[in-house]
Amino acid sequence: MAKIPMETPLVEMDGDEMTRVLWKMVKDELLEPYIDLKTEYYDLGLKHRDETDDQVTVDAANAIKKYGVGVKCATITPNAARVEEYGLKKMYRSPNGTLRGLLDGTVFRTPVLVKGITPNVKTWEEPITIARHAYGDIYKATEFRIEKKGRAKLVFEAEDGSVTEQTIFEFTDPGVVEAMFNTDQSIRSFARSCFSYALSEKKDLWFGAKDTIAKKYDGRFREIFEEVYENEYREAFEKEGLTYFYTLIDDAIARIMKSKGGMIWACKNYDGDVFSDMLSSAYGSLAMMTSVLVSPEGLYEYEAAHGTVQRHYYRHLKGEETSTNSVATIFAWTGALRKRGELDRNPHLMQFADDLEQAVIATIESGTMTNDLAALTTLEHVRPVSSLEFIQAVRYMLERVRND
Ligand code: NAP
Ligand code: MG
Repeated sequence: MAKIPMETPLVEMDGDEMTRVLWKMVKDELLEPYIDLKTEYYDLGLKHRDETDDQVTVDAANAIKKYGVGVKCATITPNAARVEEYGLKKMYRSPNGTLRGLLDGTVFRTPVLVKGITPNVKTWEEPITIARHAYGDIYKATEFRIEKKGRAKLVFEAEDGSVTEQTIFEFTDPGVVEAMFNTDQSIRSFARSCFSYALSEKKDLWFGAKDTIAKKYDGRFREIFEEVYENEYREAFEKEGLTYFYTLIDDAIARIMKSKGGMIWACKNYDGDVFSDMLSSAYGSLAMMTSVLVSPEGLYEYEAAHGTVQRHYYRHLKGEETSTNSVATIFAWTGALRKRGELDRNPHLMQFADDLEQAVIATIESGTMTNDLAALTTLEHVRPVSSLEFIQAVRYMLERVRND
């Protein structure tokens, strides 16, 4: 079979440690033999970020703005230990944070479901995609402890000189106080990302907040979502038979736990922080969780939700064989290729993405899987394999899927 041609390049962002090793294996074994792969390559490996004073991350974000679709390998977010390990000039920001900031995007996480790895919640037959509004609220709050008697106030000094002020609490005993904020612009971008991704995935969108208590604060979130829906998306949603559903956050949780899954669940910042961990552990494994950053105007950056799997990498460096799960990394590529194919009207590329995903799932369901999944599965005949053996088994299955 001739290789599948590509028109527009994907923005390829290489990364660090074990996932960088998997990245090359996936390209060599599963992509380049079948696709005339066109990418614009950015090396976000920590060494090269340091050499370019992190300019490479900014350049990659600009390339996504130019081409529309990127695929990213997991990267190290430097901490003090990493600064020493790599002799870094400074402690750079997380590349994901930089990309998210520059693209003004929202991250959507979706588990890959296979038979034999059963979600802890029995009713979940389909994946639940969670979206977290990663701006403001308690993550940018100002807070302090109150040690003395006195009055805490919230004050807003407008540029025009007018002042709005309210008493928060009259303290007679020690306590704590916190003030937080968000902006209409950020909430609106979040809403747009959620509605456009729901349309692109043909899934219902749910949003929950606490507007019965925080009438102004969470009420503003609710209003903006409604406004954006009514003015920009209702027509398209109705045409696709999709629903936008707002409910109180407590009610959302209760319904999610009893649902079949299959929806996109938009969460405020803190709710998303907490519930994305709940979802990924209930679905089984972080190594099966995919992630995509979607900007309000519809730019896409696909990646795995997990990190660089450092412990496996150190074993790999010692020459030991590792059994690292490449599923989320492969699905980052298939997500990006499918989206590229959709934008370029390249059905062969989209079909290839479907075939490769099918091959991954069939491989695991046939019992061939990495150790992390072998430890979880209810399948009886399991063949635990190494990182490379798994990818080779997927390739074998892919040949069969493509010849069917
Ligand atoms: P991690 O790479 O996600 O790995 C944590 C543990 O989860 C691993 O030690 C491994 O458990 C298991 N695991 C995760 N992915 C796996 C896979 N694909 N296959 C098999 N097991 C897997 O998190 P970390 O070790 O805390 O962080 C390592 C580096 O990743 C850090 O420098 C962090 O900054 C970075 N990070 C990057 C991203 C990103 O780029 N999106 C996200 C998170 C973290 P066992 O060791 O028990 O097998
Ligand atoms: Mg969290």
